[in-house]
Amino acid sequence: DMPVVVIAGRPNVGKSTLFNRLVGRRQALVADTPGVTRDRKEGVALIRGRYVRLIDTAGLEEAAPESLFGRMRFSSESAVREADLVLFCVDARAGITPADEHFAQWIRRQNRPVLLVANKTEGRLGTASAMEAYALGLGEPLALSAEHGEGVTDLMWEIADRL
Ligand code: GDP
Ligand code: MG
Repeated sequence: DMPVVVIAGRPNVGKSTLFNRLVGRRQALVADTPGVTRDRKEGVALIRGRYVRLIDTAGLEEAAPESLFGRMRFSSESAVREADLVLFCVDARAGITPADEHFAQWIRRQNRPVLLVANKTEGRLGTASAMEAYALGLGEPLALSAEHGEGVTDLMWEIADRL
């Protein structure tokens, strides 16, 4: 059985960009799952010689502001519960927001292994602000740029170490 890796976090932090980066050419295998899981996108990624099921918790972007936390929870709850590893993503350029803190607190309560990803860290400004993510209590933030591919090899090592 393939281990399940779930990409979680508030909207616009770069989850889908990271998903596409990790799935790469195997994106052809991505299929929308019908029903209540329609907000999810799944693919198969090859991480250091091992195939993993990668789940992008998409669809949160359409949530109304007043129901954002509720939608986050609904859309991601079952995915996180079946996760062998959660990649919790933040936007290091935007800094840590109340939504990040709220979602991180919920993630911690699920007692699943979590890898904290500080995305958008290309350039010096982003790298410095990645340290801010320590405050989420999810361990050491791993700085990367999903869009530019920086830090993705390190991320793959970290994922492989935890599976
Ligand atoms: P999601 O809502 O979490 O799935 O985020 P998306 O993957 O849709 O990305 C949101 C925005 O952030 C898009 O405009 C991306 O191009 C941008 N983005 C994603 N990764 C990076 C990155 O590494 N650096 C920068 N500067 N922008 C990024
Ligand atoms: Mg997305």
